[in-house]
Amino acid sequence: MKYRKAYEWGRARLEMAKIDEASLDARLLLEFVCGTSRNDLYAHSERELSESEEEKYRSLILKRTERIPLQHLTGEQEFMGLRIKVNEHVLVPRQDTEILAEEGLIAVNDGDRILDMCTGSGCILLSIMRYKNDVTGVGADLSADALAVARENYENHRKEISGRADFVQGDLFENVEGRFDVILSNPPYIRSEVIESLAPEVKDHDPMMALDGGTDGLIFYQRIVEEAPRYLKAEGKLLMEIGFDQAADVRQLLENGGFTEVKVIKDLAGLNRVVCARLMEERN
Ligand code: GLN
Repeated sequence: MKYRKAYEWGRARLEMAKIDEASLDARLLLEFVCGTSRNDLYAHSERELSESEEEKYRSLILKRTERIPLQHLTGEQEFMGLRIKVNEHVLVPRQDTEILAEEGLIAVNDGDRILDMCTGSGCILLSIMRYKNDVTGVGADLSADALAVARENYENHRKEISGRADFVQGDLFENVEGRFDVILSNPPYIRSEVIESLAPEVKDHDPMMALDGGTDGLIFYQRIVEEAPRYLKAEGKLLMEIGFDQAADVRQLLENGGFTEVKVIKDLAGLNRVVCARLMEERN
C-alpha cells in the first residue's frame, strides 16, 4: 500500500470509530510506524509501505479504534518540547499542564531547590530543570511504577539538564526531606462521581490514582496546603494545577492555610487552570 493510501485508510477507520482527532492520530501513527515526519505525507505520498510497516500500522489503527490512547501506542508524548516516555502507570501529560510548567519557569530561579509532588512521568519537574540552570529537583509519587517512568525520562534527558533530580516514593510528603524554594503539583483532582463520564481513553487507561480527587475533588489540595508549609522556605511558592471549577475552593484553602499573593491563571481556553501562592514565613 502507498503512504497516502495507508493514511487515508487509517483516517477513515478512525472516523468510523468516532475518534475525535482522526486525521491527526492516523498521521501520527503512520509516522511512528515508518519513522517519517509530517512532511512525508506531501513529499513522499507515493512511497510504498513495506509489508511489516503495513501490518503494524493496521494493528495500531485497530487498537486506536478500541480507544487505546495514541500515547500508549507510541509510548510517548511531547511536553514543553521534551519527549516524555509514558505507559499505563502515568497520566499522559496534557497540553493544559504546560500552563503549570510555564508558571513554574517564572517562579523558579536558577539554583533553586524544587519539589514536584505527584510527579507521574516527571514531565513538570524535568521540563523546568531543562530550561533552568542548576536546579535541584525532587519528584515524589505514591506509585513506584510511575517513578520508574520518571527516572527513565530523567535518564533520557540527563544530558540537557544541568541540575540533579531525585525521586522519592511515598504518600505525599511522607518521605520528602528538607525545604524547597518552589513546590509544584498536578495532583488528582477529578470528583469521584465524574470519572465515569470521562472519555474511555482517560477513564480506562490513565491510572485511576492519578485522576481521583475524592468526593469533592479537593482532597489532595487540602492535604498539600496543610503539609507544604513545613517543606517551603520563607517566601517559597506553591503552584498547583486545578480543575476549571476549583479556583474559589482552592483559593480559600490557601488563604485559610496562611498563604498570601494567591493568583489564579487561566489556560488557553480561558478556563482557570493554575493557582500560585506564597508563604512568607517558614513553618515547623
Ligand atoms: N486534567 C486531567 C483530565 O482532565 C486530570 C488530571 C488530574 O486529575 N490531575 O483528565
